[in-house]
Amino acid sequence: MPYCIYCGEELSEDAKFCRKCGKQISNQTANMCPKCGTKMKKEIYSKALHPFAFNPLGHALGLIRYKERLVCPKCKHKKELE
Ligand SMILES: [Zn+2]
Ligand SMILES: [Zn+2]
Repeated sequence: MPYCIYCGEELSEDAKFCRKCGKQISNQTANMCPKCGTKMKKEIYSKALHPFAFNPLGHALGLIRYKERLVCPKCKHKKELE
């Protein structure tokens, strides 16, 4: 059984909010690596929208988007955040 990290209330397995203090708890396990269970780290990375984006012109034209993803420090599993 998971417990609320804010007040210690026991929570049901699929609870999204703590019934006692009302805090959102849905992302407590969302950052865990699905492969090895290690806590994943958030990182910012650039994603090219066009093959020619990785040059100064690409930056100028806005062809590169900066996105967030989670990376497992142990097995390098990556999960994109939308
Ligand atoms: Zn709580
Ligand atoms: Zn992992």
